[in-house]
Amino acid sequence: MEYVKKQIAENFWCIEQNGVRSFLFIGTDDAVLVDTCFGGDLKAVVESITDLPVTLITTHGDRDHIGSDEQFETHFMHPAEFEIYQRKNQKKPNAYPLWEGDVFRVGEYALEVVLIPGHTPGGIALLDREHKFILCGDSVQAHTIYMHGDSRNMQALYYSLEKLQAMRDMGIFDTIYASHGQLEVPADILEEHLTLAQQLLDCTAEAIGDAPDHFPKTVKTYGYGRVKMYFEMK
Ligand SMILES: [Zn+2]
Repeated sequence: MEYVKKQIAENFWCIEQNGVRSFLFIGTDDAVLVDTCFGGDLKAVVESITDLPVTLITTHGDRDHIGSDEQFETHFMHPAEFEIYQRKNQKKPNAYPLWEGDVFRVGEYALEVVLIPGHTPGGIALLDREHKFILCGDSVQAHTIYMHGDSRNMQALYYSLEKLQAMRDMGIFDTIYASHGQLEVPADILEEHLTLAQQLLDCTAEAIGDAPDHFPKTVKTYGYGRVKMYFEMK
């Protein structure tokens, strides 16, 4: 699977592979990579952008975000994610724990850890208060979110979305960089996420289509505004 590099700002890149993104921040002494897509020689792609030592941060342990983790020696992940990372991927994470409020400084960026469980138990967002953006992994995007299967928890996702919405209401961020679909998503999409999550919890959402063939037939696609989710209504 091919990698495509895209420069977002002078020291901020994304690297896409088959519909998923990793993000790369370049500092003066080191660089920070967020997620590693499906797998392949991502290190070579990173080295074509920077020769600085790289710290890897994992937003969550789904297969499309951890494929090349072994290539990066210094790796951080939330401890609540370790178990599903290992179970889903049949490999052990060689990672240090990170915690809510930890800040990774890299050049002009300061990436603050915000725990947002729901899509997975230890999923995190990375917030830059000065630049007013947040990276939310798969939890917020103008795209379909997988909320069916191992490790998904709609109630927890709802609380995480409320937490993000409260931060957004305080003006802490206005842009979301998404791992799938549209790269730069206006933060007002959180309202659509919350409405859809609420409808799914209340069982009032109407399915708008089927889900991919590898899911059971009871899993459907639900949508509200720009947001879609694969979910099984109980
Ligand atoms: Zn993903």
